[in-house]
This record gives sequence, structure tokens and C-alpha cells, in this order.
Amino acid sequence: MYFCPLYSGSSGNSLFCQYGNTRLLIDAGKNGKTIEAALNQIGVEMETISGILITHEHSDHIAGAGILARRYHVPLYATGETWRAMMGKIGKLAPDLRREVTAGHAFYLGDIGVAPFSIPHDAADPVGYRLWGGNVSISTATDLGHFSDEVFRQICGSDLVLLESNHDPDMLKANPNYSAVLKKRILGEYGHLSNQMCAEALLRLIAGGTSNVILGHLSGENNTPVLARRVSEAAMAREGIKAGEDVKLAVALRDTVGQVYCVKKSG
Ligand SMILES: [Zn+2]
Ligand SMILES: [Zn+2]
Repeated sequence: MYFCPLYSGSSGNSLFCQYGNTRLLIDAGKNGKTIEAALNQIGVEMETISGILITHEHSDHIAGAGILARRYHVPLYATGETWRAMMGKIGKLAPDLRREVTAGHAFYLGDIGVAPFSIPHDAADPVGYRLWGGNVSISTATDLGHFSDEVFRQICGSDLVLLESNHDPDMLKANPNYSAVLKKRILGEYGHLSNQMCAEALLRLIAGGTSNVILGHLSGENNTPVLARRVSEAAMAREGIKAGEDVKLAVALRDTVGQVYCVKKSG
């Protein structure tokens, strides 16, 4: 299974995945041209994408979705409530480009098994996705107010997880550019996962067998890639887990196309 975080962060998210003859995107939260260019950078043409899985209707996940769907006649997949919430934002779409998914109901999109699951976030009906290619699986878990037992149950045992490490709470609290309301939202049960909460979640995932973790959805103002990595590595070190040896740990950058991961069954 191949996986590439094209972009990940509060300024736009789009992830690429390939298995067998099927290629898909999770979210299209940059403009269409930017996503096309990012795909080209890893040698993929947008024409070859079979579908775009949408997690939720916030603009950092759907900014380019309508344009790409129309231009390339590629279907969008989202929950019914997400469809209702994003209809006004993505423009007119032909009915055959509108596919509905339901949390807890897995399906095949070509060669890739797709398992949507509910996430605690302040959107209409947000989901994360676990993708299966043969016996290998990759999960995305970003936009989480907290790392719920349900999310853990759904993604436990994934070979690779893209896990949110959104902010440092002290940097966020001290940020003069963010209103009190926004700070409360981000820190709340349905906001975003802090570096510390990410690190705790990471340990649970590693104990469950995950050996490849990418920290993602970093805030541009309230975090740095160095800090996010340091917090997770420190938590791993306390448990005697060596980053880079026992577990591969990487950080997806906000405005740089990530590396292409070839994920195989570990162990
Ligand atoms: Zn969101
Ligand atoms: Zn987001």
C-alpha cells in the first residue's frame, strides 16, 4: 500500500493512497491546482484518481473538492450529514458524483477497503477512515477533540496512522491572534488534539501494534514540527521505545508535499 500526505495542517489537508489498481484521495482541502501539482510531484495524474473521501465539511478539507470532482469527473464520498453541510460550499455536482458513506459501514472502492468511523469534532457528522489493502491497513485520525475509545478501537492495529498533533496548549493560550471563543473551541472535547494528547494516543497505538506514525494537522501558529516531534518522542522514550528503530515517527508538513510511504505488513 502506498500513502502520501500531500498536505496536512490547518491550512489544508489532502492525503493520497494507492493499492493495486486503485488510487484515491482523502480530503481535498487546498485549491484544485495545488492538489494536481502535488500529485504530479509524486508522479500521479489526477485523471487516475478513483474517488475522494471527505472527512468533514470544514474548508481545510474540502476547498478543492468540488472543482476536482467536476473537472475530472471523480466522485466524492461523504456522510449524509456532511453532504448537507457542504452542499452550499462546493458548488453544483452531478448526482453520480455524490456518494454517501456511513460510519461503521465498510465498503470497497476498487481494490481498497474503506472503513469510515466517527470522530469527536465540531462538524455535522465527521469521520476518519481506515483503508485496507490486502492485510495492510492505514488510518487517518485528525480533527479529534479527544482520542476516544471508539477511535482507538477503529484504528488499533493499523500498520500506519496519520495522527493529529495540532497544538501546544501553552502556545495556543498565549496567542494574541486567536479569540477566546476560538481557543475554547480548539481546546474543547470536539476541537483538536494537542501534542500531549497525541503522545498519549501514540503510546496506545504502538502497544496495539502500529509501527509507523505520521504526526499531522499541525497548527501554523500554535505548534512547530520540532515541538510536536519532541513531545511524542519524549513519551516514547519514557516507555523505552526508540523512534526510528522500534517505531518510525515522521511529521507531515503543512506546505511541503510529504514522502511516499510504501507500507507492508510489519513483523
Ligand atoms: Zn475540522
Ligand atoms: Zn481540519
